[in-house]
Amino acid sequence: PSLLPGFTKIVMELDSTAYKRLIDVGRALSAEKDINSLLARILKEAKSMVSAEAGALYLRTHQNTLKFSIVLNDTLERTDIDLPEIPLTTVGGEPNLQNIASRAANTGETVNVSDFSTVKESGARQFDAIMGYMSRSFLTVPLKNHHEESIGVLQLLNARDQKGEYIAFSPDSEALVEALASQASVALENRYLVDEQAELKHQFEREVDERTRELKGALEKLSEAHIILKELTTIDSVTGIRNRQYFEEVYDQEYRRALRQQYAVTVMLVDIDHFKRVNDTYGHLVGDDCLAHVAQDIDNAFNRPADVVARYGGEEFVAILPYIRHNDALRMADQLRMNIADKDIPTEKEPIRVSISIGVATMIPPDISSMRKLVADADANLYRAKEEGRNRVVGSESTP
Ligand code: GH3
Ligand code: MG
Ligand code: MG
Repeated sequence: PSLLPGFTKIVMELDSTAYKRLIDVGRALSAEKDINSLLARILKEAKSMVSAEAGALYLRTHQNTLKFSIVLNDTLERTDIDLPEIPLTTVGGEPNLQNIASRAANTGETVNVSDFSTVKESGARQFDAIMGYMSRSFLTVPLKNHHEESIGVLQLLNARDQKGEYIAFSPDSEALVEALASQASVALENRYLVDEQAELKHQFEREVDERTRELKGALEKLSEAHIILKELTTIDSVTGIRNRQYFEEVYDQEYRRALRQQYAVTVMLVDIDHFKRVNDTYGHLVGDDCLAHVAQDIDNAFNRPADVVARYGGEEFVAILPYIRHNDALRMADQLRMNIADKDIPTEKEPIRVSISIGVATMIPPDISSMRKLVADADANLYRAKEEGRNRVVGSESTP
């Protein structure tokens, strides 16, 4: 630890054994891991250096008081003692000199009292009263930081000689404890700094965590919004079912999956028969109504999770049906055709009837290049259904 100016001066006056001891203590103090063990170590070393019977340590608080921190006493068993805080200023705002500890802190001077009976300050008596102790001699030394501000007070009680007789603290003891107080102040200041840094680091980490959580939340909301938006852009506005773009995306995925796993996929193309007549007879708005009704019916006809129905364009619709046998697909297509043909479609003006033609194609995908062929087959079958008179289903199955 760096030596304080006061420390150097004091040390000059000590003999070499004491000096060596001080250096060792300084090293030991800077090695203490936490503030409590550091405080205990300071007090223990101070007490043993000057053969004091008891000692106490006070630290200055942010409320400008001295807070009792630790006590060591050879004659008392209690260590769980808590003493009241000592204000460093009076109610009038003056430095509090009415108490020995606060006087030492305020003046920065050591207070050495050889005989307790001469003491007028109330603090010492309060200490005795609370501790059940009998103070005789007193050595009170301020702990000062490098700005010469008192950061605490070290108090030693009842010096003893070799035989254990109570004596006063000698000038040598005074110098020794002052030197130790310098060492202790440096160690304490360092500990404060380290703790403060650790707290700042914690606080910083907490803030980073907080921001990260906020950011994650915002990103989640954004991606939810993105998903909703994406959903919306896949819906056809006239019919309310999926649009062509969605079909293309899903068809690509479904075809590739069926190719990998070698199962059958069916594509159906559904076209409303003579739809032009509907528009011509009832107008485009009724045409739109009708289109939406038929679209919903087709959509409802294929409702297994993997089924996809979309508007392919105009009055034409497409369905992708994975995992289905060709004959089952034909049966479902015909059921749909009959449902539509039998249905009165309610419109603004009057109920109308339409029929549909359906081209069905099924294959177990042989390779990636047949992806368009499956749709083309369905389209060719739809064309045949129209040619053969409409309101019918034509299908084909291509086998490898
Ligand atoms: P076919 O039996 O051969 O399919 O006869 P069609 O009249 O249905 O076929 P065509 O291709 O000749 O005409 C399709 C009609 O579908 C023409 C077009 O006005 C109508 N149509 C396409 N999209 C819409 C739409 O969004 N709303 C309305 N009202 N009509 C549409
Ligand atoms: Mg048509
Ligand atoms: Mg058409």
